Amino acid sequence: MKNDFKLLVDGELIDGVNSFDVINPATEEAFARAPRADAAILNRAVAAAKAALPAWSALSVEERATYLSRLADAMEARIEDFARLLTAEQGKPLDQASYEIGGSIYTLRAFAAMRLPEQTLRDDKGNLVIEHRTPLGVCAAITPWNFPIILLANKLGPCLVMGNTMVAKPAPTTPLTTLLLGEVAASILPPGVFNVVCDQNELGPLITGHPDIAKVAFTGSTATGKKVMASAAGSVKRVTLELGGNDAAIVLDDVPARIAAQKVYAGAMANAGQICVAIKRAYVPSAIYAEFCEEIATLAGQAVLDDGAKQGATIGPVQNRAQYDKVRSLIEDAKSRGTVIAGGDLPDRKGFFIPPTVIADLDEDAPLVREEQFGPVLPVLRYDDIDDVIARANDSPYGLGGTVWGADQSRAMEVARRIDAGTVWVNQHLAIDPNIPFRGSKQSGLGTEHGLAGLMEYTQAHIINAVPLEA
Ligand code: NAD
Repeated sequence: MKNDFKLLVDGELIDGVNSFDVINPATEEAFARAPRADAAILNRAVAAAKAALPAWSALSVEERATYLSRLADAMEARIEDFARLLTAEQGKPLDQASYEIGGSIYTLRAFAAMRLPEQTLRDDKGNLVIEHRTPLGVCAAITPWNFPIILLANKLGPCLVMGNTMVAKPAPTTPLTTLLLGEVAASILPPGVFNVVCDQNELGPLITGHPDIAKVAFTGSTATGKKVMASAAGSVKRVTLELGGNDAAIVLDDVPARIAAQKVYAGAMANAGQICVAIKRAYVPSAIYAEFCEEIATLAGQAVLDDGAKQGATIGPVQNRAQYDKVRSLIEDAKSRGTVIAGGDLPDRKGFFIPPTVIADLDEDAPLVREEQFGPVLPVLRYDDIDDVIARANDSPYGLGGTVWGADQSRAMEVARRIDAGTVWVNQHLAIDPNIPFRGSKQSGLGTEHGLAGLMEYTQAHIINAVPLEA
């Protein structure tokens, strides 16, 4: 596998000040080294992005969209390389890695096709008021390790098409697919338009406090998001924060237990539960609770937990040691409070493997119910009253997503309206689309990604208010 990764600064692929190991979570072995940037390299990247701005923003939106489309095409030409690298650094099964890369390409193309036309706000007796959108400047993308490449594409697409330039910094445990994107972009984009720097968790504050960065687009934990927001305040930077969640799934009483279990299992365990909008708590009516538990335990028992590079693996390891330890300790605590109906015991093998684990009969105040587990373990909770379950679903500092499952779609939609979250899906899950706005409520985020609202977040509204000259 490729092992000559370089940073991208001012159109050049360069070495870092040193390099660090990248661990395959399925083997716990280092399989590649990533170049590490220091403050001086970061400053060079920001200066290059700033210098590239006048020419890049002066291009027409059609010209910038063409660049973006060429980048998407070049990714597509190397889709296999991206997918294998993603599985090796992140852990997810190869088919899921290919899906993430395909989604990233689709996202870049979707943003290449989006436009924010100028608006005439008034045209009355010679008074012409126009609102158009100008770029913000240099934008930083700071991304986490669960979906390293699509979460970057969500930022890169709108950033570039609206005439901004970018410095991207991936998470320290999953830098390689971002570095490969930098390598691909080096021969397509003008120098300085897109830069990639890597760190071991020390560059974040330098980015968020940098005077020449106009906006920080951050996806990661709520705890780090708060630091980003505080630091960005120093220069009143624009921020988009896509943060943590503790999404509830509410199963209504008209859904057969078997169907409900299939849907909830898939929503909770995809990407080994490491999805911001994964189902993290399942609320099931008492009438079907026992049958639901039986069905979901069967599904968990059928999972093939293995190295994502092995054919047939349906669930890979957790991405890193720190997350593995956190999920393990939540499971240990939950075991003493509830009933383990699937998984629970760790396999005796190398790698950060945790079998799909389902725990029933927990109280609402158990840490596994209150906190974001971000791993393959799901609490299944019982309810009898719809108002009570809605109140329990909403009783969280998070408000990212949620799902409602019901045979009567309009009734399910009425329940969905009462869930305090950025997105509530009805009878489906993870229907994330670059054309549909995505945002968190409460401590799950600030601002929007995707859709025209997301595109606007990479612009400044500029008003021109003109009247004829009075003699
Ligand atoms: P994290 O907050 O630990 O790290 C995210 C990024 O922030 C990394 O690149 C990290 O190096 C960087 N960082 C660390 N300290 C920083 C600082 N002081 N200033 C600026 N940047 C800093 O998150 P993680 O553990 O990598 O990701 C998991 C979390 O991300 C979960 O909470 C998950 O729900 C959330 N997430 C949210 C979304 C969403 O769209 N809402 C999507 C995916 C993941």
